[in-house]
Amino acid sequence: MKAKISLLAMLFLISCITLSLSQEIHRNVFRLPQTVSGYHVLKCDFHLHTVFSDGSVWPVVRVEEAFAEGLDVIAITDHVEYRPRIKEMGAKDSEVSYNAPYNLAKSAAAKYGVILIPGVEITKEVPPGHFNALFIKDADPFGKNFDPGNPTRGSFIRGSLGEARKQDAFIVWNHPWFRTHNNTSIWFPLIDSLYNEGYINGVEVVNSRRYDPVIFRWVLDKNLTNLANSDTHNPTTLNRTLPRTMTIVFAKERTSESIKEALKEKRTISYCNDSLYGDSELLEALFHKSIEIKTYFSGKNGYISFSNNTSLPFEIKFSDTGRIKISTYSGGIAIPAKGEAAVLISNDSIFESSKEYIIGIRIMNLETAPGVPLTTELVARCPQVKDSL
Ligand SMILES: [Zn+2]
Ligand SMILES: [Zn+2]
Repeated sequence: MKAKISLLAMLFLISCITLSLSQEIHRNVFRLPQTVSGYHVLKCDFHLHTVFSDGSVWPVVRVEEAFAEGLDVIAITDHVEYRPRIKEMGAKDSEVSYNAPYNLAKSAAAKYGVILIPGVEITKEVPPGHFNALFIKDADPFGKNFDPGNPTRGSFIRGSLGEARKQDAFIVWNHPWFRTHNNTSIWFPLIDSLYNEGYINGVEVVNSRRYDPVIFRWVLDKNLTNLANSDTHNPTTLNRTLPRTMTIVFAKERTSESIKEALKEKRTISYCNDSLYGDSELLEALFHKSIEIKTYFSGKNGYISFSNNTSLPFEIKFSDTGRIKISTYSGGIAIPAKGEAAVLISNDSIFESSKEYIIGIRIMNLETAPGVPLTTELVARCPQVKDSL
């Protein structure tokens, strides 16, 4: 009996050890083509908070979340001027380095293959508002660039942005609608001065779940880099009804230097709520790499099937179908994420297998300018599939 109990106790102990060693992470990876037009397609979130400012997670958790969601790149950008959790943890602000979140997360980032970009959020009253300085070399000097009596005083902005420039940082103006009159995005005179002085490299067209067409227009008119970031303060698992907001970067290499180069060259697309906003060439290349088309003709009839291997749905409208008649109620077709869809087609005369049929389409959830969907063409040629209708 005694031996039996001790064996049970041992088994219990072993199961406890096994449980404590178990580190399974359930992954629900956001899927995109890995390369497009010779570039690596990188899923990035350049704006995240931790307990080192006003977030509620430890820095390592940000890396684990990124791994679980299939992100390639993150930046932890804790507020410099606003760190309420430090006090809550019983520490003095001056005792905790501004580099702590990056330093704590970097070994996890290496372990999970997530690229971690060092950054801070410069946090001033409106105007000018908040700015992320990315690819910085040392976060601590930013902690000396404010008035201790009034850390968020806007007139001190050039001190912080000057430090960012000294460190060759990439500077993003965050959520331009935040705390403005009626929460509208305003291009303030102070912003105009900073822009003319070369301090603003990019802007958040999307912050969290808010896409702003006014900001997208600024990106096009003022030649800024287009970014979409989650600005998550909580665990991202709490917001998981849809994939998180992210910036899709087209980088020559899967390295921090290449990501910076791609941001400077504006090779980015913003993603939010199943829509993409960005440059037409990048969107067009991404779309064609995402969708596989198969066509079948028999006499005057046939079908086109669309197979989508990505996590992006595509909402297509047929604009110029030539002599082909496409049977749809809505004038279009919705291709689900990681799914397939097909439309029946017919022609006045017999489809010729030697011919290519060009179909003009608009993709309604891919915008090249505010309210302007991407236009492109599909090529239907037969035979591409052997199965019959
Ligand atoms: Zn902010
Ligand atoms: Zn923020």
